[in-house]
Parts: sequence; C-alpha cells; structure tokens
Amino acid sequence: MARTGVVYSPKYLDHFTGTVEGHKRLQTIWSVLEEYRIVPKLTMVEPYAAPLEVIQLVHTPEYIQALERFAAQGGGEWAEETFVSRESYEVALLAAGGTTAGVDAVMKGTVDNVLALVRPPGHHAAKERAAGFCLFNNVAIAAKYAQKVYGLQRVLILDWDVHHGSGCQTVFYDDPSVLYFSIHQDGIYPRTGWANETGEGPGEGYTVNVPLPKQTGDAGFYYVFTRLLEPVVRQYQPELILVAAGFDAHFYDPLGSLEVTTGGFMRMTTMLKKLADEVCQGRIAATLEGGYDLGSVGYSVAGMLSAMGEMGIKVNDPVEPPSDVVRPQARIRIDDAIEIQRKYWKV
Ligand SMILES: [Zn+2]
Repeated sequence: MARTGVVYSPKYLDHFTGTVEGHKRLQTIWSVLEEYRIVPKLTMVEPYAAPLEVIQLVHTPEYIQALERFAAQGGGEWAEETFVSRESYEVALLAAGGTTAGVDAVMKGTVDNVLALVRPPGHHAAKERAAGFCLFNNVAIAAKYAQKVYGLQRVLILDWDVHHGSGCQTVFYDDPSVLYFSIHQDGIYPRTGWANETGEGPGEGYTVNVPLPKQTGDAGFYYVFTRLLEPVVRQYQPELILVAAGFDAHFYDPLGSLEVTTGGFMRMTTMLKKLADEVCQGRIAATLEGGYDLGSVGYSVAGMLSAMGEMGIKVNDPVEPPSDVVRPQARIRIDDAIEIQRKYWKV
C-alpha cells in the first residue's frame, strides 16, 4: 500500500457555471469513492486559499484583480464558454491552493502521492487569459511553487486530459526546468498541441505533444507510455511528477472521443507510479482537470486513486466498453510524434 492523499472541500461546489463543468462532477466523484470504500483509505489533505504571490508565479496582477472584480460584481461569461459566479474568485484561489497543498503533502512526505479534487480546472488558463472553463492554471502554479518553495530543478507535468493544455504549454514553452508532456485528441478545442510544437529557445525539446485521432483507446495510451513517456522521463529525471488529470478522454465523455476506459486510467496510473518510484521516490501530485460524463467520471477517479494507493480495489466502468488493440490510425500518429522527439530523446 502507498499512502495516498486526496484534497477536497465542499467549497469547490460553490463555483457556478451553467456548463458541463458543474458542481455535480465532484459530487458524483465523491459518491463513487464512498461506494468503493476508498475514502477511508485516503489521507485527507486540507486545501488553503493560495496567497496572491503564489498565483502571481503564473498570472499577472492585472489579470488577478480583473477576475476578482468581475466575480465581485456578480460574474457572467468571462471568456468564451468560461463562466464566473460571485464565489468563483475565492473558489479558484482554493483550487490553486488545493493543488499546492498536494505538492506540500508529497514534498514533506505526509503522503506518497496525492490527487487534488478541485474545480475550476486550470490547464487552459494562460498568464493573462482565462479559457476553456479555466481561471487560474492550478498545475502550472503548482510546478512553479514546487520550484520556488522546494528548490526543484526539474518538474514533469503529464497532462492526459483529452484537450491540449494550451495554458501550460505557453507558460513553460521556453523553460527546460518544467517538461510539459501532453497526450490529447487532435482537431478539438483548443486546436493547439501539434507534435511539432516542441518548445523554443532553452525550452526546445521540453514540450512533448502527442495528438491522437478519435478512438485511440487504452492500448494507444499504453503505447505512448512505453514508447515515449517512459524513455523521456528516464532521461529527464524529474524530481516531482505533476499530473493534469482530466478524465474526458473516457469512452463516454461528451467532449472527447479517445475512448479510454476506467481500467485504462487505472493501468496508466500503475505505469506512472512505477516510473515515479524509479525516478523521483514515487512523488506524484495530480490535480483534476476535465471529465464531464457524470455516469463514468467518478469510476475513473476511483480507479486512479485505487492504483495510486495500491489498494487492490478493482474499479470497473458501469458499462464496460471494449478496447484492447492499438488501432492502426493511432499507431501511425504516435509513431509520427515519436519520430519528432528522436531529435531530443532516445526513444
Ligand atoms: Zn478537457
């Protein structure tokens, strides 16, 4: 068993959007964790509101103040499809602080690994721009925070949300001290993250994008892990692995078509955990990003936590979708991405 932490607070329900990124996501996740008796096996990690200087590791003071004002005035549509309610500013501070609280718990050794169940999500948010349901870039803030507070030289962000983490990429595009590795569906929002976007200046080679076609499935993800993620991570030797853990690559998710199953998320987590044990004393701090199918997202999260904690609890999708071979179209696209990375890594 590993000691696995979870960050959660009912305050995360208080950000009202009127979109699929709603409070019911966390409610259903929590009820599945209870159904599978996973909650008693978790260490609760208390979130705190991130101080402004921590948010400013990524965002400009002008952007932060504008969001605070907009929320205080009652909110509305703040960016395209990105809604803010009166409480959203406070909740967004707590989401960023929940993610950094997870980093604290892992770095101090209170837990071996952690998943922060926070909202609003973060990976689309850029320095001075909200986007795609995201207000503050929780995982990017956590990476900068880990560097500042714990003096880390190399941090990996693995982003397996079905959407490309456009905000994370812009924040770290010229920065070799954070390797941003994204696996996502091509041609959907935000239409960035092509395989030839590999970073610039000193950051060249430290952005790895693996855009995948529809119906890639579990086996395609394992193929990315074994052929690209694992060799890159072994060479990079991160001191901490952050995960932008979106579950909208799931088979039933309404926003994506990558057809990953809960069993797939479990196995990917197990593979990642082994890798983390090998390179960074098992340190994994994950934070929730997308995942919008209320019928399956809770199972995917439960599966991930069970695998993180080596709990031996098998979590199945309520309706198990089929998926076992790397589809030819996916294999071609993954091999293309690998070819591009050969310039930087032995893969
Ligand atoms: Zn997403």
